[in-house]
Amino acid sequence: MGRRYAETRNHDHGPEDRSNLSLLSPYVRHRLIEEWEPAALALAFHSASAADKFLKEVCWRTYWKGWLAHRPDVWHQYELRRDELITGMARESLLRRRYEAAITGATGIDGFDQWAQELVAEGYLANHARMWFASIWIFTLRLPWELGADFFLRHLMDADAASNTLSWRWVAGLHTPGKTYLARADNIANYTGGRYRPVGLSSCADPVGGFANPAPKPANIAGPAPEGRVGLLLTDEDLRPETLIGHRTKVAAIAGIHFAEHRSPLPIGDAALAFTRGALADGLARAAHHFEAPATDCSGAPHRLAACREWAASLDVDLVVTAEPATGWTASALGEYAAALEETGKRLVFAGRGWDAAFWPHASKGFFALGAKIPETLEALGIGPQARLL
Ligand SMILES: Cc1cc2nc3c(=O)[nH]c(=O)nc-3n(C[C@H](O)[C@H](O)[C@H](O)COP(=O)(O)OP(=O)(O)OC[C@H]3O[C@@H](n4cnc5c(N)ncnc54)[C@H](O)[C@@H]3O)c2cc1C
Repeated sequence: MGRRYAETRNHDHGPEDRSNLSLLSPYVRHRLIEEWEPAALALAFHSASAADKFLKEVCWRTYWKGWLAHRPDVWHQYELRRDELITGMARESLLRRRYEAAITGATGIDGFDQWAQELVAEGYLANHARMWFASIWIFTLRLPWELGADFFLRHLMDADAASNTLSWRWVAGLHTPGKTYLARADNIANYTGGRYRPVGLSSCADPVGGFANPAPKPANIAGPAPEGRVGLLLTDEDLRPETLIGHRTKVAAIAGIHFAEHRSPLPIGDAALAFTRGALADGLARAAHHFEAPATDCSGAPHRLAACREWAASLDVDLVVTAEPATGWTASALGEYAAALEETGKRLVFAGRGWDAAFWPHASKGFFALGAKIPETLEALGIGPQARLL
């Protein structure tokens, strides 16, 4: 988390050696670990300047989530275009063949093919490999970025609507209009220790056309959980209920559901699905222990919505609390669940996180504005070298 991280994070040594990276993203993404925890650890063991790079990276996730919360239409447009493309592939056999070659690692492009296979097998790629992969997908293979973003969401254990969609848009020149990211063979050879040196990569990266960034709307950030007796709904969005629910709230019963299959109309990869299932099971077990309340996993039921409605109907409470979902598939899916709970006389209410409330207001423009606020925001949240966690 200190200087060694800053100096080495761009290297991709392959799955056998990830010692230069934290591999925390699947855990932070599902909020099994909260963002403040790695931030506090970094500051407990390193000076603020040595930890600066790591803290900024932790906050990139926050920035992307906050940015998308100001412009949810970017996500909805992505979903529409992705669905059109997937439907269209059934008719366009040439596009389908090129797409299949890319996702199975059969393009003949050194590095790219191995990363495609690594992603499917491991559910993870190093950040730099994600950048190279997205760039080659868009500018060399000339495939639509939305299909690449979908391939990532289906297989990444840390699949995240904001980080993924906006990173792909950034590579394509849509996030920072006109600024694209071009993968170069010598850069790949350098940062992979010579493992890969692809030939024939595109030498030009003209921005692709697409949905332009809309003007920001105010981002909604929910307050803390209501006091009194409630039901608790855990989703794959936030699996740390111990810190979401204060001691004045009494949890009567817990239900859990994950929405991994809502990431894409196409099948979700084994590694990604196994991670999400395991994360939900872990969250439910901790919640049952912490709140001393019965926990039900609705994800395994043949009719999840009905199982969730049945669970809610059995409760002697008016409110069901869930962590506020960021823009993405879980937020979209929860609309249907709120309506089902309503039928049983229960209202679904969101509880927000102080971290999001503190950072998101700075996430409506470029990263720089948020990055400049990191020290004072961490201080305001009480996160500093004093927060020794080990
Ligand atoms: C095209 C593309 C798609 C991506 N898709 C996703 C995605 O779906 N989900 C996802 O979580 N990240 C995504 N990223 C961001 C980044 O690649 C991963 O967060 C990072 O590789 C995770 O590995 P790590 O935990 O070992 O990171 P470390 O380098 O150890 O970083 C520490 C923590 O900082 C955060 N972080 C680091 N880099 C970034 C970044 N560029 N953006 C946002 N947060 C970051 C993560 O929470 C990470 O756990 C994408 C990047 C690109 C270029």
